[in-house]
This record gives sequence, structure tokens and C-alpha cells, in this order.
Amino acid sequence: MTTSERTRTYWLEHAWLGTHVEPDVAVEVADGRITAVHQGVATPPPGAEILRGLTLPGLANAHSHAFHRALRGTVQVGSGTFWTWREVMYSVADRLTPDTYHALARAVYAEMALAGITTVGEFHYVHHAPGGTPYADPNAMGDALIEAAAEAGVRITLLDTCYLSSGFGEPPNTHQLRFSDGTAQAWAERCSVLKERDHARIGAAIHSVRAVPADQLATVAQWAQARRAPLHVHLSEQTAENDACRQAHGCTPTRLLADHGVLGARTTGVHNTHLTDEDIALLGGSRTGTCMCPTTERDLADGIGPAPALQRAGSPLSLGSDSHAVIDLLEEARAMELNERLRTRARGHWTAAALLRAATADGHAALGWDDTGRIEAGTRADLTTIALDSVRTAGPLPRLGAETAVFAATAADVRHTVVGGRHVVRDGAHALVPDVPQALARAVEALRA
Ligand SMILES: [Zn+2]
Repeated sequence: MTTSERTRTYWLEHAWLGTHVEPDVAVEVADGRITAVHQGVATPPPGAEILRGLTLPGLANAHSHAFHRALRGTVQVGSGTFWTWREVMYSVADRLTPDTYHALARAVYAEMALAGITTVGEFHYVHHAPGGTPYADPNAMGDALIEAAAEAGVRITLLDTCYLSSGFGEPPNTHQLRFSDGTAQAWAERCSVLKERDHARIGAAIHSVRAVPADQLATVAQWAQARRAPLHVHLSEQTAENDACRQAHGCTPTRLLADHGVLGARTTGVHNTHLTDEDIALLGGSRTGTCMCPTTERDLADGIGPAPALQRAGSPLSLGSDSHAVIDLLEEARAMELNERLRTRARGHWTAAALLRAATADGHAALGWDDTGRIEAGTRADLTTIALDSVRTAGPLPRLGAETAVFAATAADVRHTVVGGRHVVRDGAHALVPDVPQALARAVEALRA
């Protein structure tokens, strides 16, 4: 690689610097990291890459199940609940192979790049062949996802998920056999073989208190702790989970996790929807994060989690597109605020700045990329540029760019996505996956029953 390829200057017409929009910003990049940020650079330096619009730090999608993208549309026919939706979801999970999952994930991650997402947290539990037989390479599925992210040009934290039971004291059902390693110890041994790459980190996940017996929770928590790796867990998304947990253990899922050493600053609870005041205090007091997935939570009729109370108690917020009913982090950010407006009949629970922080720096931190998600020297050069002259975003003053991005723009307004100083999306076109809609259509077609 020549020096000119390793060092580069970006000129940002408008930049979001964490507290305000600054015009005329030059960002110097070397070896994928920002080395300097200069303000008041009225003329783009010679040879600079020009990013017109509002440039944000790269967006972090902190909760993804890539294969759920194959359900889009299909699950909107008819009525039902989370549990009937889950049956349709399992019918797709049954058909995944390392090859078909690689093709689908590559297309889904390319869709994410087009939406300005530079890092995905993949909550991954389809580990083995149908019936539960390990593949010749027991991490064939996880490695397929890591490779898919590389080909789509985004970072990934593979949150390898422990999934052992169907419910409290119940073995996995037919669909769930391929999710299970048998024991948390066997899960840990398989995960220990996974290799990190420049674009990929390995984290851990507990699918839920339904799926990991209480006496094996600590094994997963200790594995993550020993590696200082992020640990995610679906938490109290459904009241039925809370009821079953109380029946089995006489406490809430949050209390169960606390008692087994699962909570902490590197842990993130996903959804955190149906919580008691004590749960909120336990999560906040331990600095356990909260990943809200508002477009999925509304799609699955989950309810609205107490995000403001969690944040006040000390729980950092991140955002995820989860089931990929839509892939649009700007929509997730505004939905978190707008849900609260509907619930409370009051406006302004978060500023646009606070919502962007959840979508960028705090989302990255939840995925173990602490040095990513801010436009400042020393951080990774991950940038997302939103057009301020589209039919949705034209009009407001540029200094209101953050408010415009969060409350009016959509993923369709993402003009450029830069990951580690590499232009992955330029002028709305993916540089590595030439026809993303076609890649999605083919990958979903291959999974159709
Ligand atoms: Zn999920």
C-alpha cells in the first residue's frame, strides 16, 4: 500500500462534532484512524475527498439477527403475537446453511452500509446443522457472518450466543436443536476457537433466561469477563418470560442475571421492556447497557421499554434494527423519542444530540469498539454523510443538521459511508456489492420454502 492510500484528507461541508454542527471541517486519516480534525477550513485542501451534507460518526447497529431480513413482508400478513411470529422465523432458521447464510448476510450488511451503518452487532445463535449436528468446522456459520461483513465493508461484533433450552427446565425443541451446544461449557469451548480479524470482534450472548439454565449463566459471564468482551442478553421482551421466570426461580429475569454475575458495564440488555423499579435500579447501578430496538418492538407488539428511567439510573442506551422490519438507525433513534411522546403526551425526552450519541459512540461502546463513533483525533475513521439537500432534508438551516437527520432524514438520505478510511458507499452506491437489491432478492429467494 502506498503512502497516499494510507493517508487521506476528508473535507466535510458540515460535521457533527458531538455537541454541534461545525461547517468546513478537514479530517486527516492515516491507517484507518483520524489523526487530526481542523475547523474553519473554508476551501477543501487539494486532493481531499469532499463529503457534502452533514457528516456524522459511523452508525452502530447494536442488535441484528441477519436472517430475519428474509421475513420482511411475509410476517405482515395476518395477525398474531410475538410467539406466532416466532414460528415463521423458525421456518427460515431451519433452512439456513453456511452458504445461504453467507449470501444473505452479505446482502443485509450491504443494505446496512447503504443506511450509514459502519458496525453491526450480530446476535448469532444458528450454530449447527438442522438437528444439532456440528458442521465439520463447528464455527462455519459464525465465520460465514464474519466473512459476509468483510465483503460488505462493515465492522462486526459477532455476539456468539449460548442457547441451550426451550424454557425453564425444558430441552430445546426441534427448531432449537441447531442453536444448542448442549452445555455452556461446550459453547465456551467452541467460541474460544473463533478468531478476531481487523474488522471483527468476538463477543458473547445469553439468548435469554429462558434459553440458558440459571446454573450455567455464570459460565457465559465468566467467558466474556476473562476476555473483556461484550456480553448481550435479550431481557424481559415479553411478559410471558417474566411470568415463567418468577414461577421457576421466584424472581425477575433481571434479578436472576444479577445473582449469577451477568450484569456489568460490558453487558447490554436488549429490549429491557417489562421491568420493575428494582430491575431498573439493578441495571442502572451496575452500568449495564440497554439496547432499544423500537422498530422491532413496535412490529412485534412488545410494548415500550422504560428507556428514560433506565438512562437516568445509569444504563447507557444503544439502538438496533433487530428483526430488520426496516434497516434505518435514524428511524430507530427518532422512534425511541416518539414512543415516549405518545406514552407521556410530552415532547423532548432526548435531544437530537443524545439520540445521535446512542446511535454512534454509545452503540459502538456496547459492541466493544470504544475507540469508534466520534469525529476526533485517535478514533477510527468511520463516517456517515447525510444529504441535506434531499426532498426530505432540504430547508432547515445547516446548524440544525442533527435535528434534521434524526427527525426527518431516512436511510435513503445516506450519501457516503466510510469505514476505517475506506469509502464503502459513495454517492449512495455500494462500492463492493454492485447490486444490493438483487443480492437481497436472490438470497431471500434461495431460502423460500
Ligand atoms: Zn433479538
